[in-house]
Amino acid sequence: MSEGKNITLENLVSLCKRRGFVFPSSEIYGGFAAVYDFGPYGAELAKNIRETWWKAMVYDHENIVGLDSAIFMHPKVWEASGHVGGFSDPLAECKECHTRVRVDHLLEEAGVFADEKMSEEEINTLFDAKRAMITCPKCGKQCFSEAKKFNLLVKSNLGSFTEDWTKEPAYLRGETCQGIYINFKNVIDSSRVKVPFGIAQIGKAFRNEITARQFIFRKREFEQMEMQYFVHPDTAAETYEQWREKRFRFYTDILGLKKENIRWHQHENLVFYAKAAWDIEYRYPFGFCEMEGVHNRSDYDLTQHAKFSGVDLSYRDPQTNEKYVPWIVETSVGLERMFLAVLTDAYTEEPIGENEMRVVLKFPKKLAPVKIAVFPLLKNKPELVAQARAIYETLASEWHCEFDDNGNVGKRYRRQDEIGTPYCVTVDFDTLGQGENKSLEGTVTVRDRDTMEQIRVSINELQKYFSENLK
Ligand code: ATP
Repeated sequence: MSEGKNITLENLVSLCKRRGFVFPSSEIYGGFAAVYDFGPYGAELAKNIRETWWKAMVYDHENIVGLDSAIFMHPKVWEASGHVGGFSDPLAECKECHTRVRVDHLLEEAGVFADEKMSEEEINTLFDAKRAMITCPKCGKQCFSEAKKFNLLVKSNLGSFTEDWTKEPAYLRGETCQGIYINFKNVIDSSRVKVPFGIAQIGKAFRNEITARQFIFRKREFEQMEMQYFVHPDTAAETYEQWREKRFRFYTDILGLKKENIRWHQHENLVFYAKAAWDIEYRYPFGFCEMEGVHNRSDYDLTQHAKFSGVDLSYRDPQTNEKYVPWIVETSVGLERMFLAVLTDAYTEEPIGENEMRVVLKFPKKLAPVKIAVFPLLKNKPELVAQARAIYETLASEWHCEFDDNGNVGKRYRRQDEIGTPYCVTVDFDTLGQGENKSLEGTVTVRDRDTMEQIRVSINELQKYFSENLK
């Protein structure tokens, strides 16, 4: 976190736009609420986050396999999951400007405490008692309607030419895990997994989120990284605790997030089938909010899909011959929420010299979009440029590198600091044996992002140096 100054969401939004991490969608058409695009560096950071998660979940566990299921599924999937009936938030509409806002958010903003233990009905009653005094965040009037339900699933007209699709529309998936449940039997039948085992998936999910706010924290098209772990009912509680611990350690030990910025939050108001639910919360610039959910979902999902599809989804233990419906321990996180946490944690403003400040993203090296930037000291000296390009080409065959000869070296450092590049390499006259210090011939300056320390490394040793330091 920034020294002596709290990071604001505006700091991050502005950096993301300025440096090509995140752009508002369809900006040339005036934007499209709660939809965002990853720019060149954002796409790299997102890819590195996905790979880190995939390695920690799939490659580091012999009994977890991957899946990439389709966004479209049979409409019955969403009935079985309960989304068609119940995937909705109570909303109120401003009678003046017709803005719809989530009731719990309105209460929160009005400073009215809606206890998490309260049922939806109690929250609606509380809202009803207060609504005459609640101000519309858009137009400022105080004339909200009563709370109404609004389904979060996004409908499509896929197949509309063949069927009466309005009765049973195809939805864009509201969560990726349903694709895992409906492939449970396929995975068991086609691979060597035995309970306990997990299926992991990364993919897009779509929700008609009502409130477009908090940047990429709440999007209408987002990406989930989910893992469903199938276990014997008797071991579910213990497995659940193990996954809680592992997931927390992922953030502290693998992503290196600051411990004071993450915490657990226990759900007190569980959905009827859930046996336990905890969230890992991150301290975003707008406060602690859910980043990942870790849930013990009992046998609800497989039982529901067995009921709606008519296919037996129970499991027979090959050793004991016992037949049962496995329970599921789920870990579910949004890529964008992890992205925003990584960015918040890395964002640092620090003074350099007397009256200059630098913004630097102190990403863990494995997440940095660019690993090494290579510069010739001057752009109009062909020998410097040729040597720098030769170094760039060698290093770029192994790491994602950038060549930059724009402006002066100081400006180039500022730019690389702002995108979090761990190392900058500069070719100068000493490198060519044309400087004052002849002993530096064949060496370059390597500058460290975090300490700003500069050392001389021989060109022949560069690959070895980065292999050791970019692990
Ligand atoms: P919230 O209460 O914030 O709406 P949720 O409890 O509905 O979230 P889940 O359905 O449990 O979220 O989804 C699992 C994970 O998916 C969340 O922990 C979050 O990281 C991510 N996620 C959910 N909705 C969104 C969204 N609209 N934009 C980005 N990520 C999301």
